[in-house]
Amino acid sequence: MIRPRRLRQSAALRRLVCETRLSVEQLVLPLFVRSGRRMRQPIGSMPGVFQLSPDELVREASRSYALGVPAVLLFGIPDRKDERASGAYARNGIVQQAVRQLKREIPDLLVITDVCLCEYMSHGHCGLVHAGPHGTTILNDPTLKLLARTAASHAEAGADIIAPSDMMDGRVRAIREELDRSGFTDTSIMSYAAKFASAFYGPFREAAESTPKFGDRRSYQMDAANANEALREVALDIAEGADIVMVKPALAYLDILHRVKTEFGYPTAAYAVSAEYSMVKAAAAKGWIDERSVTLESLLAMRRAGADILITYAACDVAKWLREK
Ligand SMILES: [Zn+2]
Repeated sequence: MIRPRRLRQSAALRRLVCETRLSVEQLVLPLFVRSGRRMRQPIGSMPGVFQLSPDELVREASRSYALGVPAVLLFGIPDRKDERASGAYARNGIVQQAVRQLKREIPDLLVITDVCLCEYMSHGHCGLVHAGPHGTTILNDPTLKLLARTAASHAEAGADIIAPSDMMDGRVRAIREELDRSGFTDTSIMSYAAKFASAFYGPFREAAESTPKFGDRRSYQMDAANANEALREVALDIAEGADIVMVKPALAYLDILHRVKTEFGYPTAAYAVSAEYSMVKAAAAKGWIDERSVTLESLLAMRRAGADILITYAACDVAKWLREK
């Protein structure tokens, strides 16, 4: 008789036939940086996550690096916002400063920088806004120049990987061309290729202070209903020069992740977004679920679906748990 249970009889047997593994080398920790000193400003909706001043950022990144987490993904919160997002591409902008400091203190840490304008725009949108007689629109092509400029300034500061998250059309090409023109031919691009307009970003907006002042992001981020369109977005980004493609959010979009990995075979990242983290934290705080088991099972599911790279706010805890296993 065929008995699948035979291979489940002991932990050693189960490990032997295990098809998918989680490893600390696959983790990326997102971090929020803002100016100041010795500042760790807690984000209420994301327990354990902080807005950090650059010195505290270095401490946090050193801690995660010592645990084996190889990479961080940086988001900046500027002191001032305007309608041209000038803080995004300022030579001494908050992210540029932070990258220099991180590369100086922890040279082998992989530094990935989020490239978008929303945190730096007074209106909170990811692109330039045009107010016309029939309402406001987010301009695509004029925004590309600012994104490319931002990317080059991050590369100049020493970023290893540039991660555009704005969802403007043609941004990967614009960024690749600008990086090459500026001599950063070896700086990689990890594009947020299939980024959906999602309610799962709620807590992040508090963390990054990037809630749009009017309207929403549905004219540039993707409709949650569309999978074929996600594949077209990924194909475009690859054609434009993306080295790594990302699906965001992760857990509610595992079908997309699976299709992206199967179709293109590219290095693929999954971003377990803020609400994915906060929901687990909240339920665990109430004693309704086991935080460790639920977090590890969720990340394993992303790996099984096809993710090579896991971006998660829980990276430090996960690194510790994987050690204990
Ligand atoms: Zn944005």
